[in-house]
Amino acid sequence: MTAAVTLPADLIDNLKAALGPKGWSQDPQEIAPHVQDWRGRYKGETPILLKPASTGEVSAVVRLCAEAGVAITPQGGNTSLCGAATPQGEVLISLKRMTAVREIDTDNDSMTVEAGCVLESLQQTAEGTNRLFPLSLGSQGSAMIGGLISTNAGGVHVLRYGMTRELVLGLEAVLPDGTIWSGLTGLRKDNTGYDLKQLLIGAEGTLGIITAATLKLYPRPGRMELAFIGMNSVDDAVKFLGMAKQVSGGAVTAFEVMPNLALEFVLMRIPNTRDPLEAKHPWYVVCEMSFGRPDGARETMEAALEQGFEAGLVQDAVIAENEAQMQDLWRLRESIAEAERGQGLAVKHDVSIPVSKMSAFIDVATQRVNRDFPDGIVVAFGHVGDGNVHYNIACIDPDAHAGFMARAGEMSKIVYDTVDEFGGSISAEHGIGILKREELANRKPVDVKVMRAIKQALDPKGIMNPRVLF
Ligand SMILES: Cc1cc2nc3c(=O)[nH]c(=O)nc-3n(C[C@H](O)[C@H](O)[C@H](O)COP(=O)(O)OP(=O)(O)OC[C@H]3O[C@@H](n4cnc5c(N)ncnc54)[C@H](O)[C@@H]3O)c2cc1C
Repeated sequence: MTAAVTLPADLIDNLKAALGPKGWSQDPQEIAPHVQDWRGRYKGETPILLKPASTGEVSAVVRLCAEAGVAITPQGGNTSLCGAATPQGEVLISLKRMTAVREIDTDNDSMTVEAGCVLESLQQTAEGTNRLFPLSLGSQGSAMIGGLISTNAGGVHVLRYGMTRELVLGLEAVLPDGTIWSGLTGLRKDNTGYDLKQLLIGAEGTLGIITAATLKLYPRPGRMELAFIGMNSVDDAVKFLGMAKQVSGGAVTAFEVMPNLALEFVLMRIPNTRDPLEAKHPWYVVCEMSFGRPDGARETMEAALEQGFEAGLVQDAVIAENEAQMQDLWRLRESIAEAERGQGLAVKHDVSIPVSKMSAFIDVATQRVNRDFPDGIVVAFGHVGDGNVHYNIACIDPDAHAGFMARAGEMSKIVYDTVDEFGGSISAEHGIGILKREELANRKPVDVKVMRAIKQALDPKGIMNPRVLF
């Protein structure tokens, strides 16, 4: 039993009283999905699941925990891929009941929403006011805005709109002693000293609980074009990206790259998927362009592809004819994680490299992995348009899984050492969680020292998501 499982009875009583009967659960069945991560890699436990419905309630329960020196894990959609949201005996605070859209200000192109809003619902809310909330990723049906901000999530539109950090104008949060910090603002210019919201963005729940956010909205594109393209190499893909940006005047909003093997996994594992091209190609690109007006949109995509053909970069391509075809093409890319999961175990790395060095990085890392782990199959795919590759090493033989995974650390060392050589980062968009704590400490000791000082200043008792980050 963990220390938190033996919480004092009066604390449990006070937490329950602060939230009322709908605001907590100790039912093992309700708790079960909250204490296991999406990948099934981390299993944890909690003495109680708290479900506050307002910022005041979050503040009340955090204050009670702080006074008792009891640790907390905040949780959104529980889609973290690095074990950041799995409690190991901490009190678990889920934001899932805080789902209000507090304000939409179309003239200011902003909306203020509570932390438990699921991303997909926010995209729809924005659409309902003829605006775009551009954050988009494979987990958008579950991930919540509080979690997305706390991990500074990326996704497929970073190329044009930036990471989540760039979409946040203001935040409201409960600090580790229970104080409510009201930093909700729709201002784009606000030079009043340290920008406190930036500390909470990407902090993975270690500095406080985000309860609401004011987010940027954008004009909805009048027309989107999507092409699925067969290519010979990542180098060709990177060259084509530059060409497509130039030809379209910066209209490329997503540029995803995947190897043939990833497509094979998807076709094998995901129902109702099909290869849209006649022949097989070593690599594929999903290229999305967004335009203010429909006129000329298709012609622009065609012109980019034509130039790509002429330069020998594009081998074959198909352009989606309608919304349904667009979704089908996107599914080929968005289902890779799920298909890979069904295919066997993999040692996964979410890394970033300057776009110009992406091809060389994949070549060098793969040569090294193949040399030392001939049974490992490299599946490198992802948001290559913004220099982010999910560099996974898969083992498809179930009998070999145990031995393979036991050597995960050695494989990761090869990959991360190569990332360092190429001037990259060991975490592009998924964060650190508990998965990469040691790597972070070893590779960025000065950064970790400064982060610890900030943590000490805001959370001297160390109760907010301990074990995560460092
Ligand atoms: C199929 C799939 C595809 C994915 N694709 C992408 C992708 O393309 N890009 C990408 O960046 N990520 C991706 N992810 C990872 C994941 O979806 C993101 O990290 C997401 O931001 C997590 O949101 P969540 O609400 O599920 O947070 P959780 O998993 O619940 O929590 C994540 C972290 O945030 C903290 N936290 C949660 N809510 C709060 C809060 N209100 N206040 C303070 N801390 C909080 C938690 O303690 C934890 O440290 C993917 C995951 C899956 C399963």
